[in-house]
Amino acid sequence: MSCLFCKIIEGKIPSTAVFQDELGYAFADVNPQAPVHVLIVPREHISSLNDAGTEKQALLGHLLWAAAEIARQKGLTNGYRIVVNTGDDGGQSVEHLHLHLLGGRSLAWPPG
Ligand code: 5GP
Ligand code: ZN
Repeated sequence: MSCLFCKIIEGKIPSTAVFQDELGYAFADVNPQAPVHVLIVPREHISSLNDAGTEKQALLGHLLWAAAEIARQKGLTNGYRIVVNTGDDGGQSVEHLHLHLLGGRSLAWPPG
């Protein structure tokens, strides 16, 4: 498996861990777009949100809960944003499902 995030999960590529449990792993984005920029990924390889079938509903919910838990741990009491870029039009550059947690500054809307 040549997937970048699978290698990060396996520890073959170093990362700064933020949160981990049996289902997911979260680490600091190497190119942060906000004071807090964390990526939350499932331990199992799923290429994108569009590839997460019916049987992944609980896992998807768990990852969303983990993102909120990290936001609480980071003290983002003024709010934050969760983003799941999907496919080419969504701007997805790494083909392993990931949630972006962005916070620590006021975020513009709509995105570019
Ligand atoms: P996407 O564009 O697919 O939604 O997000 C991919 C994210 O992965 C980008 O924000 C990018 O900065 C981050 N990223 C890419 N390569 C690495 C890496 O080797 N380590 C870490 N920590 N983040 C990475
Ligand atoms: Zn992967």
